[in-house]
Amino acid sequence: MNIKNLLVLSFCFFLSGSLIGQKPLNPCGTPPGKSLWLKKYQENPANFDTRSGDPLYFPLTVFSVGDDTGLGAFSETSTLDALCRLQMDFEGTDIYFYLHSPIKFLYNTAYFDHETVVQGANMMFDNNVPNTLNNYIVRNPAGNCGYNLPYAGVALGKACANPADHTWAHEVGHALSIQHPFLGWEGGVSYDGSEFHDYNEAAPETVLYDYTLFKDTLILDTLIIDTAYVEKMDGSNCHFAADGFCDTAPDYLAQRWPCDGDGNSLIEQTDPDGVKFYSQGANFMTYAFDNCANSFTPEQIAAMRANILTEKADYIDPSLEILAPVDGITSLQYPINDEMVPYSGTELGWEEVDNATAYLVQLGFEPSVTAVLFDTIVYANQATFYDLNQNYKYYWRVKAFNDFDFCNEFSGIEAFETGDFVSTNDKSLDQLIHLAPNPVSGEVVAIIYSGNDSIESVVMYNTHGQKVKTTLNQQRLELGENDGGLYYIQIQLSSGSTITKKLLVFN
Ligand SMILES: [Zn+2]
Repeated sequence: MNIKNLLVLSFCFFLSGSLIGQKPLNPCGTPPGKSLWLKKYQENPANFDTRSGDPLYFPLTVFSVGDDTGLGAFSETSTLDALCRLQMDFEGTDIYFYLHSPIKFLYNTAYFDHETVVQGANMMFDNNVPNTLNNYIVRNPAGNCGYNLPYAGVALGKACANPADHTWAHEVGHALSIQHPFLGWEGGVSYDGSEFHDYNEAAPETVLYDYTLFKDTLILDTLIIDTAYVEKMDGSNCHFAADGFCDTAPDYLAQRWPCDGDGNSLIEQTDPDGVKFYSQGANFMTYAFDNCANSFTPEQIAAMRANILTEKADYIDPSLEILAPVDGITSLQYPINDEMVPYSGTELGWEEVDNATAYLVQLGFEPSVTAVLFDTIVYANQATFYDLNQNYKYYWRVKAFNDFDFCNEFSGIEAFETGDFVSTNDKSLDQLIHLAPNPVSGEVVAIIYSGNDSIESVVMYNTHGQKVKTTLNQQRLELGENDGGLYYIQIQLSSGSTITKKLLVFN
């Protein structure tokens, strides 16, 4: 099989892996280029203190983005799994990621499915939390699996954020200054992919690449072309060629590639001196398939640590309260053993776990809870559900976690059945009360009640069961700067009855 066929084969293989509609995803849309910081660092790494061996705690803000109707966002379960994978991929770096604030849900179709990196940059400018690394999980990050904008943040595609994927680690690597080992080859030998290169022939001494977007994504009318030296097998130019690291091997492959059993590329390449080699896929910063990648090199790790300690020194909080890993697995308390419970106002409880500050609750319809019907994160050892199916058997389990530890195990699984009754409501009351408008995009919702008694109080909950607002006003609910999304409005009547209504808020 010749090289051209191999390339076509690997491209097709990639096609089958990640699809949005019919369009293939680029592995990474991060604009190529070394920052001024990285150039300075690589001139003399010994000038930088990396505090090797010291744990560095690095804050993340994570946005799970859905569409305008409140749908499509990466679930709580998937987001926690992806965080756990990111944490595991950085094992051995002594860099520990933590959630600076709870996972944020954003509902905006223009963010969720953004076609250009410029739109992504605007999403980031509008929502970024300063002095944290901002990460946006969306359906379509401009046709890529992910990208990092050095001045704004990381965008990540849901399709590339599964537990076996390393795209997040790759993009965070970029955010911490490190580049592709094949830096310069993103557009092939020329900057725009126009020149065919035969890997059997000796590579040129230099290649061109488009530096425009690295400098500033908002530059739309200028083209900045830079030159990169092609890294040689003898190590003579490894300090400045390609990514500038000597312990990342030469690699000229700028499209997705499969690896053999040793993690090497199937495509043989030829360096400028005529020396033949295969790319090494173990490194997270190559474009090897995810099953090939498992590590960063010591020089990459040192650069990332030096970058945190200098350029991102403000991200390090000296008074940070570091939580120890969650200590143990919770056990479910109620309802268990197929107990019959109300279908609305359903209360679930479990044992508290030491060092846990939050719990992921999953409900499923089969005994293994492999397919999750419903999941939510709560910050207490109980949760209340308002819209379960009537006369249904649910299986459920809970995972304890905290802002520093996402990799704990689930509790055992218990089952309960719902009846056709609600817990605190007289169901006929439900028809006597209306919220208008609903959905709402403004700041005020009218509460219209046509019953005989009066409204005592109104409490607004988010889908995590957290209280967002309480008001004694009987006729209106004023919304603050709430993120868009679904809320539960619990209305307490003077008769003692409680009614819960759903309210959908747009940004
Ligand atoms: Zn990349």
